[in-house]
Amino acid sequence: SLSVSQSAAAEPPDTEYVKGSYADHYTTLQQIGKGAFGCVKMAFRNTDGVIVVTKFIRKAKVYEECWVFDSIMGKRVPLEVSLLTTLKHPSIVQVIDVYENEKYFQMVMEKHGSGMDLFEFIDRSPNLDEALASYIFRQVVSALSYMHSLNILHRDVKDENIILDQYFHAKLIDFGSASFMAADRYFSTFCGTMEYCSPEVLKGNKYRGPELEMWALGVTLYTLVFGENPFFDVDETIAAVLRPPFKVSNDLTDLISWLLHPDPQHRCTLSEVEKHPWTTQEVCPENYNFENVVRTVPEEIDPPMYYHMESSSHASVVPAPELASSKTVEFGLEAC
Ligand code: ADP
Ligand code: MG
Ligand code: MG
Repeated sequence: SLSVSQSAAAEPPDTEYVKGSYADHYTTLQQIGKGAFGCVKMAFRNTDGVIVVTKFIRKAKVYEECWVFDSIMGKRVPLEVSLLTTLKHPSIVQVIDVYENEKYFQMVMEKHGSGMDLFEFIDRSPNLDEALASYIFRQVVSALSYMHSLNILHRDVKDENIILDQYFHAKLIDFGSASFMAADRYFSTFCGTMEYCSPEVLKGNKYRGPELEMWALGVTLYTLVFGENPFFDVDETIAAVLRPPFKVSNDLTDLISWLLHPDPQHRCTLSEVEKHPWTTQEVCPENYNFENVVRTVPEEIDPPMYYHMESSSHASVVPAPELASSKTVEFGLEAC
Protein backbone atom coordinates (compact mmCIF):
# COMPACT_ATOMS: atom_id res chain seq x y z
CA SER A 1 0.00 0.00 0.00
CA LEU A 2 1.10 3.53 -0.57
CA SER A 3 1.41 5.06 2.82
CA VAL A 4 3.43 8.00 3.98
CA SER A 5 5.69 6.45 6.54
CA GLN A 6 7.03 8.32 9.52
CA SER A 7 10.38 8.54 7.87
CA ALA A 8 9.02 9.71 4.51
CA ALA A 9 11.59 12.09 3.16
CA ALA A 10 11.38 14.33 0.14
CA GLU A 11 13.36 13.29 -2.90
CA PRO A 12 16.24 15.76 -3.42
CA PRO A 13 15.22 18.10 -6.27
CA ASP A 14 18.35 17.29 -8.24
CA THR A 15 17.48 13.59 -8.47
CA GLU A 16 17.37 12.86 -12.19
CA TYR A 17 13.74 11.74 -12.44
CA VAL A 18 12.14 14.57 -10.42
CA LYS A 19 14.11 17.31 -12.25
CA GLY A 20 12.31 19.94 -14.29
CA SER A 21 9.12 21.95 -13.86
CA TYR A 22 7.48 18.91 -12.21
CA ALA A 23 9.60 19.61 -9.13
CA ASP A 24 8.28 23.19 -8.95
CA HIS A 25 4.75 21.85 -8.58
CA TYR A 26 5.14 18.59 -6.65
CA THR A 27 7.28 17.32 -3.83
CA THR A 28 8.11 13.67 -4.35
CA LEU A 29 8.36 11.42 -1.33
CA GLN A 30 10.90 8.66 -1.31
CA GLN A 31 8.60 6.29 0.48
CA ILE A 32 5.75 4.42 -1.13
CA GLY A 33 4.45 1.74 1.19
CA LYS A 34 7.58 -0.11 2.13
CA GLY A 35 9.45 1.87 -0.48
CA ALA A 36 9.16 -1.00 -2.86
CA PHE A 37 8.14 0.57 -6.16
CA GLY A 38 11.12 1.96 -7.98
CA CYS A 39 9.34 4.11 -10.51
CA VAL A 40 6.07 4.89 -8.78
CA LYS A 41 6.21 7.23 -5.82
CA MET A 42 3.95 9.21 -3.59
CA ALA A 43 4.12 12.97 -3.88
CA PHE A 44 2.16 16.00 -2.81
CA ARG A 45 1.10 19.12 -4.65
CA ASN A 46 3.02 22.09 -3.30
CA THR A 47 0.09 24.51 -3.47
CA ASP A 48 -2.32 22.54 -1.29
CA GLY A 49 -0.61 19.37 -0.05
CA VAL A 50 -2.93 17.03 -2.00
CA ILE A 51 -1.32 13.59 -2.04
CA VAL A 52 -0.83 12.07 -5.49
CA VAL A 53 1.04 9.16 -7.05
CA THR A 54 3.68 9.87 -9.68
CA LYS A 55 4.91 7.35 -12.21
CA PHE A 56 8.34 8.14 -13.65
CA ILE A 57 8.63 6.75 -17.15
CA ARG A 58 12.14 6.55 -18.49
CA LYS A 59 12.04 7.59 -22.13
CA ALA A 60 14.88 5.26 -23.10
CA LYS A 61 12.83 2.28 -21.85
CA VAL A 62 9.77 3.02 -24.00
CA TYR A 63 9.79 0.91 -27.17
CA GLU A 64 9.75 2.70 -30.53
CA GLU A 65 6.24 1.41 -31.35
CA CYS A 66 4.91 2.67 -28.01
CA TRP A 67 5.27 6.37 -28.86
CA VAL A 68 2.35 8.36 -30.28
CA PHE A 69 1.74 11.94 -31.27
CA ASP A 70 -0.82 13.29 -28.82
CA SER A 71 -2.75 16.10 -30.52
CA ILE A 72 -3.97 17.59 -27.24
CA MET A 73 -0.52 17.79 -25.71
CA GLY A 74 0.87 18.63 -29.13
CA LYS A 75 3.88 16.35 -28.84
CA ARG A 76 5.12 12.79 -28.91
CA VAL A 77 4.43 10.93 -25.69
CA PRO A 78 4.41 7.27 -24.61
CA LEU A 79 1.06 5.65 -25.50
CA GLU A 80 0.57 4.90 -21.79
CA VAL A 81 0.56 8.65 -21.08
CA SER A 82 -1.63 9.53 -24.06
CA LEU A 83 -4.23 6.88 -23.19
CA LEU A 84 -4.41 7.59 -19.48
CA THR A 85 -4.85 11.32 -20.06
CA THR A 86 -7.62 10.67 -22.58
CA LEU A 87 -9.63 7.82 -21.08
CA LYS A 88 -12.36 8.72 -18.62
CA HIS A 89 -14.04 5.94 -16.69
CA PRO A 90 -14.83 5.44 -13.00
CA SER A 91 -12.74 2.25 -12.97
CA ILE A 92 -9.68 3.64 -14.75
CA VAL A 93 -7.14 5.69 -12.81
CA GLN A 94 -7.23 9.43 -13.51
CA VAL A 95 -4.12 11.34 -14.57
CA ILE A 96 -3.89 14.83 -13.09
CA ASP A 97 -0.76 16.26 -14.68
CA VAL A 98 2.02 15.27 -17.06
CA TYR A 99 5.52 16.76 -17.08
CA GLU A 100 8.73 15.74 -18.73
CA ASN A 101 12.41 16.39 -18.47
CA GLU A 102 15.20 15.24 -20.71
CA LYS A 103 15.07 11.61 -19.63
CA TYR A 104 11.69 11.06 -17.96
CA PHE A 105 7.98 11.59 -18.22
CA GLN A 106 6.43 12.38 -14.84
CA MET A 107 2.83 11.20 -14.88
CA VAL A 108 0.90 12.46 -11.86
CA MET A 109 -2.11 10.33 -10.93
CA GLU A 110 -4.86 10.49 -8.36
CA LYS A 111 -4.22 8.47 -5.24
CA HIS A 112 -7.08 5.98 -5.06
CA GLY A 113 -7.84 4.91 -1.49
CA SER A 114 -4.66 4.05 0.34
CA GLY A 115 -3.21 2.78 -2.93
CA MET A 116 -3.57 -0.91 -2.13
CA ASP A 117 -3.44 -3.07 -5.23
CA LEU A 118 -5.37 -6.28 -5.68
CA PHE A 119 -2.22 -8.38 -5.31
CA GLU A 120 -1.68 -7.04 -1.82
CA PHE A 121 -5.39 -7.40 -1.05
CA ILE A 122 -5.36 -11.06 -2.13
CA ASP A 123 -2.10 -11.63 -0.26
CA ARG A 124 -3.87 -10.75 2.98
CA SER A 125 -6.32 -13.66 2.50
CA PRO A 126 -9.46 -11.52 2.43
CA ASN A 127 -12.66 -12.91 3.77
CA LEU A 128 -14.50 -12.49 0.46
CA ASP A 129 -17.86 -13.91 -0.41
CA GLU A 130 -18.78 -14.43 -4.05
CA ALA A 131 -21.05 -11.38 -4.22
CA LEU A 132 -18.27 -9.07 -3.07
CA ALA A 133 -15.73 -10.74 -5.39
CA SER A 134 -18.23 -10.24 -8.20
CA TYR A 135 -18.54 -6.56 -7.28
CA ILE A 136 -14.78 -6.05 -7.61
CA PHE A 137 -14.62 -8.14 -10.78
CA ARG A 138 -17.47 -6.37 -12.60
CA GLN A 139 -15.72 -3.01 -12.22
CA VAL A 140 -12.68 -4.34 -14.04
CA VAL A 141 -14.98 -5.83 -16.68
CA SER A 142 -16.66 -2.46 -17.09
CA ALA A 143 -13.29 -0.69 -17.55
CA LEU A 144 -12.25 -3.25 -20.17
CA SER A 145 -15.57 -2.98 -21.93
CA TYR A 146 -15.12 0.78 -22.21
CA MET A 147 -11.58 0.31 -23.53
CA HIS A 148 -12.50 -2.38 -26.03
CA SER A 149 -15.34 -0.19 -27.33
CA LEU A 150 -12.57 2.28 -28.23
CA ASN A 151 -10.49 -0.57 -29.72
CA ILE A 152 -7.94 -0.33 -26.92
CA LEU A 153 -6.42 -3.43 -25.37
CA HIS A 154 -4.82 -3.30 -21.92
CA ARG A 155 -2.72 -6.46 -22.43
CA ASP A 156 -1.48 -6.59 -18.83
CA VAL A 157 -4.61 -7.26 -16.80
CA LYS A 158 -3.59 -8.76 -13.45
CA ASP A 159 -4.05 -8.21 -9.72
CA GLU A 160 -1.07 -5.83 -9.39
CA ASN A 161 -2.54 -3.55 -12.03
CA ILE A 162 -5.84 -3.04 -10.21
CA ILE A 163 -6.03 -0.73 -7.20
CA LEU A 164 -8.74 -0.91 -4.58
CA ASP A 165 -10.06 1.58 -2.04
CA GLN A 166 -11.86 1.05 1.26
CA TYR A 167 -15.26 1.01 -0.50
CA PHE A 168 -14.13 -1.84 -2.76
CA HIS A 169 -13.96 0.54 -5.70
CA ALA A 170 -11.46 -0.87 -8.17
CA LYS A 171 -9.45 1.02 -10.78
CA LEU A 172 -7.34 -0.29 -13.61
CA ILE A 173 -3.80 1.14 -13.82
CA ASP A 174 -0.60 0.54 -15.81
CA PHE A 175 -1.28 1.08 -19.50
CA GLY A 176 2.36 0.39 -20.35
CA SER A 177 1.43 -2.65 -22.47
CA ALA A 178 -1.73 -1.21 -24.03
CA SER A 179 -2.26 -1.13 -27.76
CA PHE A 180 -4.89 -0.50 -30.43
CA MET A 181 -6.65 -3.43 -32.01
CA ALA A 182 -7.96 -3.65 -35.54
CA ALA A 183 -9.69 -6.39 -37.52
CA ASP A 184 -6.59 -7.00 -39.61
CA ARG A 185 -3.99 -6.39 -36.93
CA TYR A 186 -2.26 -9.37 -35.37
CA PHE A 187 0.35 -9.21 -32.64
CA SER A 188 3.23 -11.61 -32.56
CA THR A 189 4.96 -10.50 -29.37
CA PHE A 190 3.63 -10.86 -25.86
CA CYS A 191 4.39 -8.01 -23.51
CA GLY A 192 2.36 -8.81 -20.42
CA THR A 193 3.04 -11.12 -17.48
CA MET A 194 3.84 -14.81 -18.10
CA GLU A 195 1.45 -16.21 -15.47
CA TYR A 196 -1.39 -14.38 -17.24
CA CYS A 197 -0.51 -15.40 -20.78
CA SER A 198 -2.93 -17.62 -22.70
CA PRO A 199 -1.98 -21.07 -24.06
CA GLU A 200 -2.29 -20.16 -27.75
CA VAL A 201 0.00 -17.14 -27.31
CA LEU A 202 2.49 -19.21 -25.29
CA LYS A 203 2.51 -21.66 -28.19
CA GLY A 204 3.67 -18.80 -30.41
CA ASN A 205 0.48 -18.07 -32.33
CA LYS A 206 -0.26 -14.58 -33.53
CA TYR A 207 -3.16 -12.96 -31.70
CA ARG A 208 -5.72 -10.18 -32.16
CA GLY A 209 -5.97 -9.37 -28.48
CA PRO A 210 -9.45 -9.74 -26.99
CA GLU A 211 -9.06 -13.49 -26.37
CA LEU A 212 -5.75 -12.93 -24.58
CA GLU A 213 -7.36 -10.22 -22.48
CA MET A 214 -10.21 -12.58 -21.51
CA TRP A 215 -7.71 -15.25 -20.45
CA ALA A 216 -5.87 -12.73 -18.26
CA LEU A 217 -9.21 -11.68 -16.80
CA GLY A 218 -9.89 -15.34 -16.02
CA VAL A 219 -6.54 -15.75 -14.27
CA THR A 220 -7.26 -12.57 -12.29
CA LEU A 221 -10.70 -13.84 -11.27
CA TYR A 222 -9.32 -17.25 -10.29
CA THR A 223 -6.61 -15.60 -8.19
CA LEU A 224 -9.12 -13.28 -6.51
CA VAL A 225 -11.42 -16.15 -5.60
CA PHE A 226 -8.91 -18.87 -4.69
CA GLY A 227 -5.94 -16.81 -3.49
CA GLU A 228 -3.52 -18.71 -5.72
CA ASN A 229 -2.56 -18.85 -9.39
CA PRO A 230 -4.41 -21.35 -11.57
CA PHE A 231 -1.22 -22.34 -13.40
CA PHE A 232 2.36 -22.25 -12.22
CA ASP A 233 4.29 -22.80 -15.44
CA VAL A 234 3.98 -22.86 -19.21
CA ASP A 235 3.16 -26.59 -19.38
CA GLU A 236 0.36 -26.21 -16.85
CA THR A 237 -1.04 -23.24 -18.76
CA ILE A 238 -1.00 -25.12 -22.04
CA ALA A 239 -2.70 -28.13 -20.42
CA ALA A 240 -5.24 -25.67 -18.91
CA VAL A 241 -6.51 -28.14 -16.31
CA LEU A 242 -8.16 -26.36 -13.38
CA ARG A 243 -7.75 -27.77 -9.89
CA PRO A 244 -9.55 -25.30 -7.62
CA PRO A 245 -8.63 -25.79 -3.93
CA PHE A 246 -12.25 -25.56 -2.76
CA LYS A 247 -15.77 -25.66 -4.12
CA VAL A 248 -17.54 -22.54 -5.33
CA SER A 249 -20.95 -21.90 -6.90
CA ASN A 250 -21.79 -23.48 -10.25
CA ASP A 251 -22.09 -20.05 -11.85
CA LEU A 252 -18.59 -19.12 -10.76
CA THR A 253 -17.12 -22.47 -11.84
CA ASP A 254 -18.81 -22.01 -15.19
CA LEU A 255 -17.49 -18.47 -15.68
CA ILE A 256 -13.91 -19.30 -14.65
CA SER A 257 -13.65 -22.36 -16.86
CA TRP A 258 -15.21 -20.43 -19.76
CA LEU A 259 -12.71 -17.55 -19.40
CA LEU A 260 -9.88 -20.08 -19.08
CA HIS A 261 -11.01 -22.15 -22.05
CA PRO A 262 -7.86 -23.37 -23.82
CA ASP A 263 -9.45 -22.81 -27.24
CA PRO A 264 -9.69 -19.07 -27.93
CA GLN A 265 -12.61 -19.74 -30.31
CA HIS A 266 -14.65 -21.11 -27.43
CA ARG A 267 -13.43 -18.70 -24.78
CA CYS A 268 -15.93 -16.36 -23.15
CA THR A 269 -16.06 -12.91 -24.76
CA LEU A 270 -16.29 -9.61 -22.94
CA SER A 271 -19.97 -9.15 -23.73
CA GLU A 272 -20.63 -12.70 -22.47
CA VAL A 273 -18.77 -11.95 -19.21
CA GLU A 274 -20.80 -8.78 -18.78
CA LYS A 275 -24.08 -10.66 -19.13
CA HIS A 276 -23.06 -13.72 -17.10
CA PRO A 277 -25.29 -14.37 -14.05
CA TRP A 278 -22.25 -14.52 -11.75
CA THR A 279 -21.10 -11.07 -12.89
CA THR A 280 -24.54 -9.53 -12.58
CA GLN A 281 -25.59 -11.14 -9.29
CA GLU A 282 -27.09 -8.89 -6.67
CA VAL A 283 -24.68 -7.31 -4.20
CA CYS A 284 -24.88 -4.54 -1.60
CA PRO A 285 -21.28 -3.29 -1.29
CA GLU A 286 -22.32 -0.91 1.49
CA ASN A 287 -23.04 -3.93 3.68
CA TYR A 288 -19.33 -4.82 3.85
CA ASN A 289 -16.72 -3.16 6.02
CA PHE A 290 -13.24 -3.14 4.58
CA GLU A 291 -11.68 -3.85 7.98
CA ASN A 292 -13.86 -6.94 8.39
CA VAL A 293 -12.74 -8.28 5.03
CA VAL A 294 -8.97 -7.79 5.36
CA ARG A 295 -6.45 -6.95 8.04
CA THR A 296 -5.81 -3.24 7.80
CA VAL A 297 -4.11 -0.38 9.53
CA PRO A 298 -6.40 2.60 10.34
CA GLU A 299 -4.93 4.71 7.54
CA GLU A 300 -6.19 2.20 4.99
CA ILE A 301 -9.76 2.72 6.15
CA ASP A 302 -9.42 6.48 6.30
CA PRO A 303 -6.51 7.30 4.01
CA PRO A 304 -5.01 10.79 4.33
CA MET A 305 -5.73 13.00 1.32
CA TYR A 306 -3.36 15.79 2.30
CA TYR A 307 0.23 15.86 3.37
CA HIS A 308 0.57 17.69 6.66
CA MET A 309 3.86 19.23 7.58
CA GLU A 310 3.71 19.08 11.34
CA SER A 311 5.81 21.09 13.76
CA SER A 312 7.78 17.96 14.53
CA SER A 313 8.57 17.94 10.80
CA HIS A 314 7.08 14.45 10.58
CA ALA A 315 4.63 13.60 7.87
CA SER A 316 1.14 12.63 8.99
CA VAL A 317 2.05 9.28 10.41
CA VAL A 318 0.90 6.36 8.32
CA PRO A 319 2.95 3.26 8.98
CA ALA A 320 2.80 0.66 6.25
CA PRO A 321 1.61 -2.70 7.59
CA GLU A 322 4.07 -5.57 7.75
CA LEU A 323 2.39 -7.29 4.84
CA ALA A 324 4.45 -6.53 1.78
CA SER A 325 4.34 -9.23 -0.82
CA SER A 326 7.12 -11.09 -2.51
CA LYS A 327 6.11 -9.83 -5.95
CA THR A 328 6.11 -6.28 -4.63
CA VAL A 329 9.74 -6.60 -3.68
CA GLU A 330 10.71 -7.23 -7.29
CA PHE A 331 9.63 -3.69 -8.11
CA GLY A 332 12.05 -2.39 -5.54
CA LEU A 333 14.90 -3.89 -7.45
CA GLU A 334 13.88 -2.18 -10.64
CA ALA A 335 15.33 1.30 -10.56
CA CYS A 336 13.63 4.15 -12.39
P1 ADP B 1 4.73 -0.93 -13.75
O1 ADP B 1 4.46 -0.59 -15.18
O2 ADP B 1 6.15 -0.79 -13.36
O3 ADP B 1 4.12 -2.25 -13.34
P2 ADP B 1 2.50 0.34 -12.44
O4 ADP B 1 1.87 1.49 -13.17
O5 ADP B 1 1.77 -0.95 -12.49
O6 ADP B 1 4.01 0.21 -12.89
O7 ADP B 1 2.72 0.74 -10.92
C1 ADP B 1 3.40 -0.15 -10.04
C2 ADP B 1 2.63 -0.30 -8.75
O8 ADP B 1 2.46 0.97 -8.14
C3 ADP B 1 1.22 -0.84 -8.93
O9 ADP B 1 1.19 -2.26 -8.91
C4 ADP B 1 0.49 -0.25 -7.74
O10 ADP B 1 0.69 -1.04 -6.57
C5 ADP B 1 1.18 1.08 -7.55
N1 ADP B 1 0.45 2.16 -8.23
C6 ADP B 1 0.63 2.60 -9.48
N2 ADP B 1 -0.19 3.62 -9.79
C7 ADP B 1 -0.91 3.86 -8.68
C8 ADP B 1 -1.94 4.80 -8.33
N3 ADP B 1 -2.39 5.73 -9.17
N4 ADP B 1 -2.45 4.73 -7.08
C9 ADP B 1 -2.00 3.83 -6.23
N5 ADP B 1 -1.06 2.91 -6.48
C10 ADP B 1 -0.50 2.92 -7.69
MG1 MG C 1 2.17 -2.81 -13.23
MG1 MG D 1 3.64 -1.76 -16.79
